[in-house]
Amino acid sequence: MKNIDVSQLTARFPLVQSLIALEPVTWFNPKATSLALGLPYVGLDGNDVADASARLARFAPYLCEAFPETRAKHGILESEIAVLPAMQATLNQRYGVEVTGRLLLKKDSHLPISGSIKARGGIYEVLTHAEQLAMAAGLLQAGDDYRTLFCDEFRQFFGQYSIAVGSTGNLGMSIGIMSAKLGFTVTVHMSADAREWKKRKLREHGVIVVEYAEDYGVAVEQGRKEAKRDPNCFFIDDENSRTLFLGYSVAGERVKKQFDEMGIRVDTEHPLFVYLPCGVGGGPGGVAFGLKLAFGDNVHCFFAEPTHSPCMLLGVHTGLHDKVSVQDLGIDNLTAADGLAVGRASGFVGRAMERLLDGFYTLSDQEMYDLLGLLARDEQIRLEPSALAGMAGPWRLAAGRAWLEAQGLDKAKMARATHLVWATGGGMVPTEEMEKYLGSARL
Ligand SMILES: *Cc1c(COP(=O)(O)O)cnc(C)c1O
Repeated sequence: MKNIDVSQLTARFPLVQSLIALEPVTWFNPKATSLALGLPYVGLDGNDVADASARLARFAPYLCEAFPETRAKHGILESEIAVLPAMQATLNQRYGVEVTGRLLLKKDSHLPISGSIKARGGIYEVLTHAEQLAMAAGLLQAGDDYRTLFCDEFRQFFGQYSIAVGSTGNLGMSIGIMSAKLGFTVTVHMSADAREWKKRKLREHGVIVVEYAEDYGVAVEQGRKEAKRDPNCFFIDDENSRTLFLGYSVAGERVKKQFDEMGIRVDTEHPLFVYLPCGVGGGPGGVAFGLKLAFGDNVHCFFAEPTHSPCMLLGVHTGLHDKVSVQDLGIDNLTAADGLAVGRASGFVGRAMERLLDGFYTLSDQEMYDLLGLLARDEQIRLEPSALAGMAGPWRLAAGRAWLEAQGLDKAKMARATHLVWATGGGMVPTEEMEKYLGSARL
């Protein structure tokens, strides 16, 4: 990859100077356009999402058998939406800006099987692969009851194949646990920031964990190389996978249904704002894609990143996408938000989604810790640091008067707005680990 001329880049893009200085920044995206104009660049559409949704429905009976904790929701992995009135009041005070409308939390942190947003994409891609193998071997037909997959014969069949993935932790958890359950030999290549307890848990499930002293990019690269050597090994490519992306995107229609049940309206008079923590981009990108298909131009999506890992903001802002990393600018990619510790964004997601995202912002690790402590204190909800990145979003938006006015989002509309903060992980954090997080918060 050719070297980046930093002084040239900062001259052209002054905001990059602020990224290098690790200042929290908010950037409203001038490339944002309507769904109609932006959709052709994604290369996927509503039919692909419907296909993913149908595949998850086929596997639901299997998941009920394999993971009894999924039975309550009939094998559909979906999270609750919580209302956060106390947190909203606290943050109005703290930030000195008033966010009107309603503050909600999408608790992907508490998704079954792996306790993070990765239970959407990661598990979906493993199921897709398993289905293809079983159908190609003539062992499974469309229309079969997929509970048949939960047996020793199928475990032996899948045991001839292996799966590999590189991860900062949560993707490895989802793919590792799901693959091992089906019977695959699965290897997770873990970056240095991956938490010890996640590696332990994976090994308990019979997953092979390979540890690296380097960051996510290196773990992925090594995983990719190793998988290439083995024709029976399938590498799940977090940086480029359309399948992962589609697994996440099913969230859009699900949220729409949940909003209908909750009596929450979304239309031109009732705008919806969604704030998504971003690592490599697949999770937030896929979810945002699904939300755009479900709510059209009435939903506005924002990505949140740590000041030490602003890879997607950097890639989209400069148009360099995966041709630039935060390390090229001397930014260290070291953050307590381990799920977001990614130095180079997915080029696929950046290029696919850059016209459908309204903005990006960065925040410090301390701010994520503080928000983590406040949410635990005021709403009794405990999350991991990454999952709090979205929480600052509504206040960044409220401070962006000029942008709101330019969009025609006046005071009356904002009073009827819904702010949905996507809580991406933390439901399975061990108590001692959680106490440490809580101890880092300044309340
Ligand atoms: C993976 C992850 C994200 C971001 O997802 P990407 O696909 O990497 O952008 C956000 N939060 C948590 C907790 C995660 O594990």
